[in-house]
Amino acid sequence: MSTPDTDQDQILIVEDEPKIARLVADYLQGSGFTSHHLAHGDAVLPWLEARSTRPELVLLDLMLPGTDGLTLCREIRQRWPAVAIIMLTARVEEVDRLLGLELGADDYICKPFSPREVVARTRAVLRRSRAATSPATGGSDLVLDEEGWRALADGHDLGLTAVEFQLLKVMMHSPGRIFTREQLMDHMYRDHRIVSERTVDSHIKKLRRKIAETWPEREVIRSVYGVGYKYQPEE
Ligand code: CA
Repeated sequence: MSTPDTDQDQILIVEDEPKIARLVADYLQGSGFTSHHLAHGDAVLPWLEARSTRPELVLLDLMLPGTDGLTLCREIRQRWPAVAIIMLTARVEEVDRLLGLELGADDYICKPFSPREVVARTRAVLRRSRAATSPATGGSDLVLDEEGWRALADGHDLGLTAVEFQLLKVMMHSPGRIFTREQLMDHMYRDHRIVSERTVDSHIKKLRRKIAETWPEREVIRSVYGVGYKYQPEE
């Protein structure tokens, strides 16, 4: 079961100033997180691609050697929407853009910052994204068993395929967030040029049907006309 396990939260720190990176890493470790550090922008995407399990959250510096933080934020959002992002920036004027739809960072921290603040924000962002995968209040009990690649509705295994599970997982990690078909496709296939957007619709349809077998009266995956889909548990 996907019980919250704070001790194993993996945080990626992308920061080219060694002193800041070290300080943040020490505080995260002292708070029960495992952290990894990359100092060059060009190293980030290959590092993420090479891993079988992605970090829960990336602390991403804006100004980096190589690929800059804005580009990385956009790429990570597109390719791994379930990974939370907190931008580290000394440029206050960038904040609106960072949090806007265009880039979609979950939060930002302005430099100079205290490492305590970083830990507090990290916890807050993780709590927010995790709220989606824990049993919600009000009787909603759709739970992801991420290790077993299963989704359980009121304890009943929905019998999802790997693709259906992946789609549900991505959306459940960001409840209320609208995903385009293209973003969802990125989670299903490495080379999504060979599949059409209708493939996404077809998988979503099957996913909904399986959820409806347990909860015929509820609709947790909603279509957003002209845009895509979102996971929206009932209020
Ligand atoms: Ca920097």
